[in-house]
Parts: sequence; C-alpha cells; structure tokens
Amino acid sequence: MRVLSSPANILQIASALPLPRVLVPTMGALHGGHVALIRKARLLAGENGSVLVSIFVNPIQFGPREDLGKYPRPRQEDLAICKNEGVDLVFAPATLYATDHSVFIEEKVLSAGLCGASRPSHFSGVCTVVGKLFNLLQPQIAVFGEKDFQQLTIIRRMVRDLHFPVKIVSLPTVREADGLAMSSRNRFLSEEERAAAPVIRRSLLAARKEAAHGDISLRRILTRVRHSVEKAGGRIDYLEVVDVNTMQPESKKIERSLIAIAVFFGATRLIDNIVLNVHPRK
Ligand code: AMP
Repeated sequence: MRVLSSPANILQIASALPLPRVLVPTMGALHGGHVALIRKARLLAGENGSVLVSIFVNPIQFGPREDLGKYPRPRQEDLAICKNEGVDLVFAPATLYATDHSVFIEEKVLSAGLCGASRPSHFSGVCTVVGKLFNLLQPQIAVFGEKDFQQLTIIRRMVRDLHFPVKIVSLPTVREADGLAMSSRNRFLSEEERAAAPVIRRSLLAARKEAAHGDISLRRILTRVRHSVEKAGGRIDYLEVVDVNTMQPESKKIERSLIAIAVFFGATRLIDNIVLNVHPRK
C-alpha cells in the first residue's frame, strides 16, 4: 500500500495505477461504514484494478463555529484499516489549498435545504474538494454512503453538470447493532448520549411504518418523530420530508420521499435519513 501526503506528483502516480481506479473519499477516523465503502470499491475494481482512499479533513466544509479543530485524526489506525482492506493507494494530504485559493464549485439548488441551510458553504466545500480529488486521482468510479444522502445527490448532480467522467456508486448506511448510524462523530457522545441516540433510527423506522399504513399525514408523522427524539434528550436541528431526487420539501407525497434529520445530542450533531418507498393506502 502506498501512502502519499503531498499533492505534488499525485496526478502522475495515480494515473499510472491499473484501471479501473475506484476512489473512496473520506475524512478519516475510519469505521465500519467506511470499510463497507472500501470493500465495495474492491469489488468494483476487481483484483486487477486499484482502490484509492483519500483521507482529508477538508477545512472549507466546516463552518467557523464547527468541530474542525477537534475532528478526530487517528492516522495510524486509519492506515492500518486501509492496509488490512487491501487498499492500493492512500492519499492523505496535509492541505489541498493554496493560501490564496479563490475558486469553488457551488451547487445552487439541491444544497438549499437540510444540511445546506444549517451549514452555509458546507456543500460548496464538499463539491470543491471532491472535484479536486477527482482531478488529482483520476478515478473511473467513486463510492459514497447514503448516510449523507443530500451530499450524494449533490455529487451526482455535480458529476452530471460538470461532465466529470466518474461513475458514482452509493451504499446503504452501515449501523451499529442498536441502529445508530456509524459516524466518526459518535465517539464524542457521552455514555448517556450514546445510549439515547438510537432513538433516531427507531423513530424513523416507526415513521416509515406509519407512512406505509397510509391514513396519517406526513405532518403528524414528523411530529411523532420530533416528540420521540426530544423526549430522549435530542435537540433537533432539522427534520423534514423531501423528494428523494430533488431534495425539495414535500408535504403530501410519500412514495420516493425521504425523511432527513439532524439532531444534537449534547454538542454532537448526528444525521440520518430514511426513504419512504411505499404507496399510501387509498
Ligand atoms: P466522512 O469520512 O464522514 O466524510 O465520510 C466519507 C464517506 O463515508 C461518505 O461517502 C459518507 O457518506 C460515508 N459514510 C459515513 N458514514 C457511513 C455509514 N455509517 N454507512 C455508510 N457510509 C458512510
């Protein structure tokens, strides 16, 4: 496994790797969700192709009052995981930005709500760094998780609109045994918060069940989710139903809608979502 920490010769090195090159972009602090993406990348690359993992805590996707400084960076553990998974190249640059960098990629529609509303400039940071990684590492395929559903939708749009020659593959959210979505931020939860956090998944599963039943409004379903989460000590940042493709708010349609939620437990912000892929009963 090759580990590179400078963008200097990366383009030449990466483009010499055997095809197909499959990229898994991450911010490190790797967990079971990342491992699932890396394993999918290997399946897609085959034995002869190349699996590339980038590890970069991208400063421009963090807001001024967010957790950039305390974001976990367990570099040795991350490298051990990559090695164990048979990754061919880890790209872990210290920085990717010139001190006077001034060009950004901005998606203007899908980014408006949900995490984009709570975290202005977050998705511009994400698109910019993913665009840079695509240029530097020249992957044919890139793998992303559905936990960050809005991000995935935006990346697909970016690839379409800017003609990046990269196929985007997504993977369902990997969860702890109690349903909590795996996240690098889970380690910040206190014991009490960790015990309470699975309410997010439980309440979304209950919501999907209620939606399948059909004789209940989306508004009422969301109210129940809100109550459950708040009762468990969560502070809701947003809780919305959106169209699964357009990310636009949805008040009636259930089929192909997505409930997206962001919740603070203490200072830790967790996100999750569930697709309501069912027909309401007439
Ligand atoms: P991050 O390191 O948090 O920026 O995430 C890197 C990639 O891993 C993104 O495509 C995420 O959507 C994906 N990811 C993070 N957590 C999970 C999870 N629990 N299950 C599946 N994919 C995940």
